Amino acid sequence: MLAMLSPAHADDPTCDYDVTVLDSHAAKLDISVACDPALEVKQFTALGNRDHWWTDPAGYKDGKGRFTYELGAFAQAEDDMGSAMPFGDAVLATPGFLLPLPETPRAAMLRFRFRFPAGGKVVTALQPDQDGYYRVPLLRLNEAGPLILGTIAAQAIPGDPALTLAVPPGATEIANEQLTAWVSAVAESNRRFWARSPTEGGLVVLIPSPRTGVPFGRVLSLGGAVVTVLVGKQATPQELYDDWVLVHEFLHLGSPLMRDTGAWLNEGIATFYEPVLRTRAGWKSEDEVWREWISQMPRGMPAITGIGLENAGRGGIYWGGAVFALMAEIESLRASGGKIGFSDCLRTVLADGADVTVKWPTMKLLDRCDALLGKTVIAPLAKQHVEKGSAMDLDQLWRRLGVSMEGSVVHYDDGAELAWLRPLIIWGGATHPAPIPASGFFSGG
Ligand SMILES: [Zn+2]
Repeated sequence: MLAMLSPAHADDPTCDYDVTVLDSHAAKLDISVACDPALEVKQFTALGNRDHWWTDPAGYKDGKGRFTYELGAFAQAEDDMGSAMPFGDAVLATPGFLLPLPETPRAAMLRFRFRFPAGGKVVTALQPDQDGYYRVPLLRLNEAGPLILGTIAAQAIPGDPALTLAVPPGATEIANEQLTAWVSAVAESNRRFWARSPTEGGLVVLIPSPRTGVPFGRVLSLGGAVVTVLVGKQATPQELYDDWVLVHEFLHLGSPLMRDTGAWLNEGIATFYEPVLRTRAGWKSEDEVWREWISQMPRGMPAITGIGLENAGRGGIYWGGAVFALMAEIESLRASGGKIGFSDCLRTVLADGADVTVKWPTMKLLDRCDALLGKTVIAPLAKQHVEKGSAMDLDQLWRRLGVSMEGSVVHYDDGAELAWLRPLIIWGGATHPAPIPASGFFSGG
């Protein structure tokens, strides 16, 4: 996991924080910080409101400071997964809202470590260095996932020891064992796709929400991947397996973070393969996948044929990226006589260690796919649709694949030119994989 420490930041002057967690629920912290004189720190600021910070201003001298932080009260006031929130007998907080931040004209590396004299612990995807410090560059604080401080029972996800799950006790009306079984099943659906765990050392955090189903999820991945997912307090087990969010976020874990041309390729991969994985797991039917693609992919066409994927707004990156992934899958399979798909290329990239904690330029991944194919297939596709769009007939593509929709009924034409690709796209081969049991209460459909 050395790749997570970008060499450009390794030599930046540091601010070192020693955080003493004064009680087992992490309600109160004592923080000592000392910054390298080269950083010329005169002042520390808090990102959140300062009602919960106590310090002697004279303590700012020479880039050193000492603070008392009422983290529990701050978390209650914020109640926001983007800053801080209560988490059972613990507090969930992002590094930017946990540490008093140095005001400095230079790039700084923040190093922080914890002591728990009164009990409790930290749960984080960050890996400590040999001195026990976690590291986050000041300028990239907003890319680091949240940590959990206090009393919390985090556990390895059953079947996937590379990933840790944190759920507050009694979070939802569903028993925690059933929530765990669901996360474990989603992890298995991804392991099948990636042929390994999609990231090492990742953390999955479930947060109870007053909304229904699984209303929101996201991945932050600097120094270690954290998947944060909201789960409705009254969600039913059926709703969990019917939902797409957690499968989508898990898919993000297995590819490098690509942002130089926007988020369209990361979002396209997750959007395109999410229904595929759920179908392979037995939680969705093949008809539903084609129905979803035929009805939703037109939303991506303004980017594909017009402004280009890198200029697509929020509405265009998901389905525009998904159309690109479909085209990449089809063209790879055609070029290799059905032997190598775009998904094979993604697996190769992950096998080389490029998961979501690594940043790559978009074309590095696409060029890798052409290298795997031994032909130039994917790069020209990018040329046609990334900087700006060009003609592409989606309706004609459905006809060539031999799928059509009449009302909501899907029809298949096995005599169509590309019909032979459909089982490869949906099932990954001629045979259907065994369903992943959904804790015995999933009725299918
Ligand atoms: Zn996404």
